[in-house]
Amino acid sequence: MNIQTRHDLEQYEEAHLAPYAMRAADTHGRVHPETEHPYRSAYQRDRDRVVHSSAFRRLEYKTQVFVNQAGDYYRTRLTHTMEVSQISRTIARALRLNEDLTEVIALGHDLGHTPFGHAGEGILNELMAGNGGFNHNVQVLRVVDLLEERYPDFLGLNLTREVRESLIKRSRGSYDRSSTEFSDRGQPLLEAQVVDLADSTAYDNHDIDDGLRAGLFAESDLQDLELWKLAVAEVFNRYPKISGRLLPRQAILNLINLEVTDLINHSLERINDLNLASPVDCHKLKDYVLAFSPEMARMRAALQRFLHQRMYGHHLVRRMQKKAHRILAAIFEEFATTPELMPEHFQHWAGEVGVERGVCDYIAGMTDRHAQEEYAKLFFPDQKL
Ligand code: MG
Repeated sequence: MNIQTRHDLEQYEEAHLAPYAMRAADTHGRVHPETEHPYRSAYQRDRDRVVHSSAFRRLEYKTQVFVNQAGDYYRTRLTHTMEVSQISRTIARALRLNEDLTEVIALGHDLGHTPFGHAGEGILNELMAGNGGFNHNVQVLRVVDLLEERYPDFLGLNLTREVRESLIKRSRGSYDRSSTEFSDRGQPLLEAQVVDLADSTAYDNHDIDDGLRAGLFAESDLQDLELWKLAVAEVFNRYPKISGRLLPRQAILNLINLEVTDLINHSLERINDLNLASPVDCHKLKDYVLAFSPEMARMRAALQRFLHQRMYGHHLVRRMQKKAHRILAAIFEEFATTPELMPEHFQHWAGEVGVERGVCDYIAGMTDRHAQEEYAKLFFPDQKL
């Protein structure tokens, strides 16, 4: 028996992946040239670099919807990321796409998120209005290109071009395309499209779970949603006597399965219709290749409207957002007027990239708790330094 080398892995990809899948052997490589690893493919190596990064570990203490300290049983950015990764890999495998590339995009997709979730992103964007703004997809690229420090020869993780491009392009139209080196290319690779759609599938479903658990709405509130009715019907088909809390839990599992199966089947039809012959064929298309069926898209939209009203708009969630706003605005202001209050490393960084951007990078990297502690240390005299 011989060791399976990178070359073997590349040959396996060549033989088994679809023509429209990206192959590790065809990577456009890294900004800083490196000798590739003897038995990991370029994308497997990227995945490992993401998992070993400091930004990845901090996802554990960052808000998904609920602030980290709100309870130990809710999703965090890290558990959300792991759910997205699992769903993405399932879809990628079924469509014969590159599972390793998909996995690294999924594991990295939220590395640019601020503390306190979208509320944090919103306030940083306001505070940075005169200085280029803030967007979490752009920030992912700053994290992997500049802010992670691991190697003596370069800043960042030196990930492959396909991963870097996918991380910034994954989200449609939500950043200034003129400001990056990737502005000239259209739709993202199919592996990135998978992660984008797996992301919303994951949060639709885990937000129902967390919303029920937190008592923001009741199971009876979901009864009018077509997609929920379908999922519940599947549960009763299989377990006619089921009741209690296992019913919604089973329904959520079915919901994920319904969405993922629909996405795979409908996307495959589109792939066949479009006759995609290479991974770059998708760049010139007007729209995503991957898509839910119109019927599923309609049912998901209704579910998302429900979540917007009943979860993200709930007064308890709004209170957390308001607090987040206050905390981040106050510490930003304090550091921007007196950068000497930041740790030395970020004082130096602010000297290189400009005060506001340096402060923004410092704050964006914080966990929920770190931001709260900095607030207390800056403003409450009885706090230890
Ligand atoms: Mg996400």
